[in-house]
Amino acid sequence: MEYLVILGVTGSIGQQTLEVVRQHPDKFKILGVSAARNIKQLEIVINEFEPAYVTVLEAETAELLKGKYPTITFFSGEKGLETLATIQGTTKLVNALIGFVGLKPTLAAIKAGINIALANKETLVAAGEIVSQLALKHQVTIIPIDSEHSAIFQCLKGNLNKEVKKIVLTASGGSFRDKSRAELKAVTVQEALKHPNWTMGAKITIDSATMMNKGLEVIEAHHLFQIPYQNIEVILHPESIIHSLVEFVDNSWLAQLGSADMMVPIQYALTYPKRFPLEIQEKLDLIKQKSLNFQAMSFERFPLLKLAYEVGLKGGNLPAIMNGANEAAVALFLEEKISFLMIEKLVKKTTTELEYLRTPSLKEIIASDQRARDYVYQLAKEH
Ligand code: MG
Repeated sequence: MEYLVILGVTGSIGQQTLEVVRQHPDKFKILGVSAARNIKQLEIVINEFEPAYVTVLEAETAELLKGKYPTITFFSGEKGLETLATIQGTTKLVNALIGFVGLKPTLAAIKAGINIALANKETLVAAGEIVSQLALKHQVTIIPIDSEHSAIFQCLKGNLNKEVKKIVLTASGGSFRDKSRAELKAVTVQEALKHPNWTMGAKITIDSATMMNKGLEVIEAHHLFQIPYQNIEVILHPESIIHSLVEFVDNSWLAQLGSADMMVPIQYALTYPKRFPLEIQEKLDLIKQKSLNFQAMSFERFPLLKLAYEVGLKGGNLPAIMNGANEAAVALFLEEKISFLMIEKLVKKTTTELEYLRTPSLKEIIASDQRARDYVYQLAKEH
């Protein structure tokens, strides 16, 4: 039996994790969950899965729920997330939080020796070196949920890293893949939220449209698999059937394929190194699929991908700055306060102009993230 704690249970990944759990009631038990604001959905989860521990954002909400569910232990806020991430008896933490807020609970779980199924890529982007070193020290396994990284993780199974020539991340191209840069000027939030292949949360769908998502994934891959940036490639693959590939030194390639359904990488992260049966909505049918297409990635069309490579190579606090700036800019775009192309401008400007630190401490990374957000809000106000 696996005893799971799910951070971000009401989000897209959290809900799909529950669907995996529903299919294997004899193999998984939910020990704890967290939700920020969607209390209605949280109560549905509480009633169905009866977790012993729950964290919410506000202390008042925790108090209110305590009265309603006296057998459950409630926590609140950032500290509550860290407490939940270290509950004794947890065999795996599913971190499905969105953004930088996922970093501290990840670190807390590692220190407590709890293995992690990680959907929160921002954790590895902002503090990849600190997280990987700590995971090594405490012998904690971080299993990626991100579909591309799950694919590479599966392809690398049984192969030594020194035998890898390069890894190739596939990118669908996002909502605006058929638009030129000139056509991006007047796009709306609604249009940006329509991803052609994947059903995902709002933040990652916007990140896919700007290609920032793939940039974050390049940095995530670098830290997860300890592969140098020059050996990480990105190609466009509009069908999202091949989730990523590895080329080995003998020119042999391995790829992982499947329909675009996040339940597959979620379940693999929960059952690794085993595989369990899984019912999904649409199964891959290669005959029906007929063809798979590939195109070279253009840094001119997607400047944030280029920026991510530069930022990753320079390292230090730059990935945290870029990530913080992006989170703030995407939030502003979703609130319809800035245009789509303004996201790129704000992220680039903030990353270029804030102070660079080569070997930042965790405290300095947290401060850099905050400074980047503040800077974006200030630039947007002046604009
Ligand atoms: Mg992905």
